[in-house]
Amino acid sequence: MKFKQIKEGEVKFFVPVGRKYDAAIFYNEDAELTRDISVCALQVFADSTDKKINVCDALSASGVRGLRYAKEVKGVGKVFMNDVTQSAAKLMKKNISLNKLQKKCTVTRSEASQLLRQNIYGAIDLDPFGPPVQFLDSTAKSAFHKGFVMITATDTSALAGAFPAACLRKYGIKPIKTEFYSELGMRILITAIIFAFARYNKTFVPVMAFPHTHYYRVFGRVEHDNILDDTLKKMGYVNYCSFCGERSFGKNQENHCVNGKEHLMRSCGPIYLGPINDADFIEKVLADLRKRDFKKRKEELKLIDTLKNETDYLFYYDLHHLGKIYKFSVPKFDELINKLESRGFKAVRSVFSDKAIRTNAKLKDILGILC
Ligand code: SAH
Repeated sequence: MKFKQIKEGEVKFFVPVGRKYDAAIFYNEDAELTRDISVCALQVFADSTDKKINVCDALSASGVRGLRYAKEVKGVGKVFMNDVTQSAAKLMKKNISLNKLQKKCTVTRSEASQLLRQNIYGAIDLDPFGPPVQFLDSTAKSAFHKGFVMITATDTSALAGAFPAACLRKYGIKPIKTEFYSELGMRILITAIIFAFARYNKTFVPVMAFPHTHYYRVFGRVEHDNILDDTLKKMGYVNYCSFCGERSFGKNQENHCVNGKEHLMRSCGPIYLGPINDADFIEKVLADLRKRDFKKRKEELKLIDTLKNETDYLFYYDLHHLGKIYKFSVPKFDELINKLESRGFKAVRSVFSDKAIRTNAKLKDILGILC
């Protein structure tokens, strides 16, 4: 196998030469953005506790994440880097030496679920190629009460409704077609994580969640079960009428669109309808990001800044989609936002789609402006 040396954040490391999906050891340079933001998020978590955090990078491949946490996050104790393949374990050791991180980083070559079940970690990074579902139970078992968890899903097409049967099989929820499919997919993922933690009497509290290119990334604190019932009360149904774009959340209202009997209201759930972003946490991530000198800093600042403002409202409106139903041309976003604000509503952009706004206005209020 041929290798090339690259640099990301403050670490350098070898990765195999070749096409990323075929290479014997996986490395995706497009995911640098999520690794950068994960460094900041773990730093914010580390700053919130006096204890040194032991981190498990459970699906490590080249080891890039583990190396970066060891080198770039203050307050990290040991980093355990794991991959089931021998070639990855060998490469990780080489990359640890290259960065002189032998004292901080340990390599294991285990099946991730087995490793997680046998240990407790203060922070766990679960970054699979594909769905994270088969590792959720062991992650929930392994995560320290008061710990931190970072989870990737790359099967966004299943989660976002392109393959409803696959989503039902993996996540236990059958998505419906909506204009806010990207957020629905994210919330289905978060629902599966919350239920997995609930089985171990732990509460997963999402603090930051965003989509990027072909993946979702979710960050959450782990809490005791004293807030679990309240969290589970936030599970409800998502109802959406593909005929008129009407939506409602909470109770199952299948076939009951307020705009007419002939409409097509479909429902799915139960889905977590509580907050998925914590404004205070995200503000701190933004402050940490501003101090760092990442290559993709500009794009990262834009993403996190947008995210910071969209903490309050459930499910965005896709203006292109509404424009098609109601035959209007899509307005300038800032103009629409100003008009909504002048009528007493709040409205912001969304990281889920550049065609979307989030607002507390109802569909009829938006249409009152646009039609
Ligand atoms: N986190 C890496 C990419 C990981 S790709 C990064 O940021 O670059 C997923 C890795 O998980 C692959 O290297 C694969 O070998 C490993 N893997 C897949 N199933 C596994 C399992 N059950 N246990 C441990 N490792 C596994």
